[in-house]
Amino acid sequence: MPDIPPTRPTLPGPPVLPLSGTSGIHWPAIGGEDDARLFALQFQLQDSEWWPPERLLGHQLEQIAILLRHAARTVPYYRDRLSAFAAETALPPSIEEFRRIPLLRRTDIQDFGEALRSESPPPDHGRLVHIRTTGSTGRPLQVVRAALSSTISRALAQRYHLWHRRDFAATNVTIGTLGIAGLPAARENGWVPGYQTGESFRLDATLPINELLDWVIRADPAYLQAHPSMLLGMIHRSREIGARPKSLREVRTFGEALEPALRKVCRREWEVPISDIYSANETATIALQCPEQPHYHVQSEAILVEVLDSDDRPCAPGETGRVVVTPLHNFAMPLIRYELGDYATVGGACPCGRGLPVIDRIVGRYRNLVVLPDGGTQFPDFGAEPVLLDLPIRQFQLIQKSRERIDVTLAVHRPLTADDEENLRAFFARAFRHRFLFPIAYVDDIPSLPGGKYEVFRSEIADATDGAG
Ligand SMILES: [Zn+2]
Repeated sequence: MPDIPPTRPTLPGPPVLPLSGTSGIHWPAIGGEDDARLFALQFQLQDSEWWPPERLLGHQLEQIAILLRHAARTVPYYRDRLSAFAAETALPPSIEEFRRIPLLRRTDIQDFGEALRSESPPPDHGRLVHIRTTGSTGRPLQVVRAALSSTISRALAQRYHLWHRRDFAATNVTIGTLGIAGLPAARENGWVPGYQTGESFRLDATLPINELLDWVIRADPAYLQAHPSMLLGMIHRSREIGARPKSLREVRTFGEALEPALRKVCRREWEVPISDIYSANETATIALQCPEQPHYHVQSEAILVEVLDSDDRPCAPGETGRVVVTPLHNFAMPLIRYELGDYATVGGACPCGRGLPVIDRIVGRYRNLVVLPDGGTQFPDFGAEPVLLDLPIRQFQLIQKSRERIDVTLAVHRPLTADDEENLRAFFARAFRHRFLFPIAYVDDIPSLPGGKYEVFRSEIADATDGAG
């Protein structure tokens, strides 16, 4: 028998049942095929999250052995590169052997795209889905995965809601990609996979902040999901108009690196906590915030995550390095040791007792590194003090143009005084640990990247080969 975790109540609030897909059956629910698989996965996830890290890694490497064999046999790009793993009798690699496989970079996917696709993806993994992303560099990237990936993503989303004991009967608003031209918002079936839930709405992330906040205030949800930059924009707007979503209990952020300062700002202004999700378009869910700590648990049942230093050695807890991922179940387009372009800080064992590895913080992308006059690089630190909230700034963006100059763009709700501008420059000098030239320009609105993402800081002189993800 596997170690069975202690029995714990899974749902808070009013009683909410799983969806039943069988005629005449209300309770206990007997779900349709998709939901039955979802709960079968959840049953296993609720056990494996308590396993020690070595046991999780052992099963990951068994799964990876199958993926490597499939890649060596059916993926042109990997035919020669992984020939050592092609034999039916090959044992699972040790982690050291696995780490000798060269990294796959974003530019490799762009250059070899078709050759990275399997010539015979398993038919029972479902139909293929094409995911196209365009980075700020403008060079698109296409990844293919089977419908099976979304079954796994749904199980992880369900786990996330169960972990955080959310009230499934409550209302939810998600601001993201809507995919319906000309519609600002749409009602969704539910917001927790496999369960009957309260109302759920999806808003188009490309709407102006003012309109988004109006929608959110009208819908008055208990839960809100949004990009960090959008949340900050709405909080600013909310101060400006003196109105805020009244019933809100928690905000879930995703899609951009979350500044720790935003947690404080959200607590101070809206009196609710933030829970963050770490995902990428190419791979779906990577890590989810622990229900008890403000750090992340890697979703080891779906993805192997490495964090590597500049010599490609694994980082120890407390160290920051490059994130390299291997999704365990993408047989349509295996991404083996794919360097995402993110930096993250490794965490130690979590006091909650889960064995899923810990990431302390997602720091950002290469292009979010500032280049100092001596050529050194570091991530800016906008600090814990929400100085920016005390100035009438709705949105801001900084773009490094040279080793001495960072252009500042502001959208404001009243003009800044000369003193305000000086305070702002002093704050940025602390954040960047150097007194750059900070020319300030004023605009009505700062446009976001495709998909509604937005970057507070970007360097045009950092060695940026990555895109937005
Ligand atoms: Zn934990």
